[in-house]
Amino acid sequence: MEKLKVKDTCIGCGLCVAQFDKYFEFNDEGFSQVKQEVIDENDKNELLGLVESCPGEAIVIEEEKEA
Ligand code: SF4
Repeated sequence: MEKLKVKDTCIGCGLCVAQFDKYFEFNDEGFSQVKQEVIDENDKNELLGLVESCPGEAIVIEEEKEA
């Protein structure tokens, strides 16, 4: 299973929140945080595009080992 994370290098540009509010929302400090951690297979390509275009290089997709 793959999970979405936002690192603290986020600069709060808002791109990910504007483009994909299913997965991202602003926290109280105005930076992005993950709203839905588990990635739907259908959304993966669009998320990979966001990983590339995030100016803070803050969005990561991590492989999570099944317990
Ligand atoms: S696109 Fe990147 S820098 Fe911009 S708000 Fe989202 S995580 Fe932060």
